[in-house]
Amino acid sequence: MYNPKSLKAEEFISHEEILDTLDYADKNKDNLELIDKILDKAQLKKGLDHREASVLLACENPERIQRMYDLARQIKKDFYGNRIVIFAPLYLSNYCINGCTYCPYHLKNKHILRKKLSQEEIAREVIALQDMGHKRLALEAGEDPVNNPIEYILESIKTIYGIKHKNGAIRRVNVNIAATTVENYRKLKEAEIGTYILFQETYHKESYLKLHPTGPKHDYAYHTEAMDRAMEGGIDDVGLGVLFGLELYRYEFAGLLMHAEHLEAVHGVGPHTISVPRIKKADGIDPSLFDNGIDDEIFAKLCALIRICVPYTGIIVSTRESQSVREKVLPLGVSQISGASRTSVGGYCEEEIPEEGDSSQFETSDRRTLDQVVKWLMELGYIPSFCTACYKEGRTGDRFMSLCKTGQIQNCCHPNALMTLQEYLIDYASPETRTVGEKLIKEQMPEILSDKVRSLTEGYMQDIRDGKRYIRF
Ligand code: SF4
Ligand code: SF4
Repeated sequence: MYNPKSLKAEEFISHEEILDTLDYADKNKDNLELIDKILDKAQLKKGLDHREASVLLACENPERIQRMYDLARQIKKDFYGNRIVIFAPLYLSNYCINGCTYCPYHLKNKHILRKKLSQEEIAREVIALQDMGHKRLALEAGEDPVNNPIEYILESIKTIYGIKHKNGAIRRVNVNIAATTVENYRKLKEAEIGTYILFQETYHKESYLKLHPTGPKHDYAYHTEAMDRAMEGGIDDVGLGVLFGLELYRYEFAGLLMHAEHLEAVHGVGPHTISVPRIKKADGIDPSLFDNGIDDEIFAKLCALIRICVPYTGIIVSTRESQSVREKVLPLGVSQISGASRTSVGGYCEEEIPEEGDSSQFETSDRRTLDQVVKWLMELGYIPSFCTACYKEGRTGDRFMSLCKTGQIQNCCHPNALMTLQEYLIDYASPETRTVGEKLIKEQMPEILSDKVRSLTEGYMQDIRDGKRYIRF
């Protein structure tokens, strides 16, 4: 029985409800009257439910698809302006006891190089990341209670926050680790993590069980209910995601939206972010063996529809995607991207030595430096933002959501983006990037609408030029 308020995975992600939804979508994919009605509702910028969304996904009418794209662009502009938040993943350990068939870290892979960073190695990685200009990290680690217990994760977070190198600092650590207990989520909250991210991989239970044949992750309900335990443990910013390519994308899309609706219904706070990874080549993993791959057009449509259906959520696209694909989806709603990522353990300090083996989780498609990514974004008219202010200012969970849904968060995001960009330009940018950035900041200052905030920002900019750091709204 479908019930978004239930705490049971199989009730809030009901297989029957998804099948009914897909059937409804198929029957209505040419029903232009209904589609126009749904699009009119979407225009109110309050989101759409999984049934309405699935009809739009099934619709193949070019004019209506164009309207979806235009709407996604408009909502992106209204909620996020032209800012793109930048982060980097940090792989702590690739020891893992799970058997995920699409990931090279699975237990049975005996030839992949296994690594776990010591605290000294983490410090070196963090200094390398700070020297690039990063302020926001996403920690990644396999599930292994012996090699990667929660104490190791907590100690690593402490190490990361503790490193102050030149003007650098990691100001927000988001964490992507396996589903765990309420008690452990509470410990992560106390360690001051930003968002807890956990990809569902697939919402299709039968496929999930096949794709995760062994290890604790095999437990579909425990994995699917993880966000509820995280919320119970006090983490109010959670990030959802599916790995597109494992199951039919229409099924996943409906499941993803039902998960978001469930979080809203039970906790009053929807997902802080939604990630849209697509399966990639890796050691022993051939994406063509997974026959549900999606092409770039469908990928773009999914990004646009997530923006329309969950207007307040951050959409994350990683370096799994190439520069050209990222360029295509940036205007359609993406709000966060990773830059200069290394997806191997210790990858920021060490060059991979082929004879020693590869420890990376997947091949990246965008291998540019952070300086190149920042310059590229600015040349496309975006403001690269290193802002991490909300967590420090206590704007999390429902407080954040209400500011975001009413659009008031813009009064913080825009000046914070410009100030963190200014810090970046002074501390890390190449001369060419600095020139482009200084011009952009000058053009963007008048876009701060409040006279008071603009005049404060002007003063803060001078403080930054005088050497002060981490000034924020
Ligand atoms: S996806 Fe995560 S849990 Fe699965 S094998 Fe890879 S690291 Fe382990
Ligand atoms: S002000 Fe908050 S929502 Fe805006 S960019 Fe900064 S951290 Fe994100």
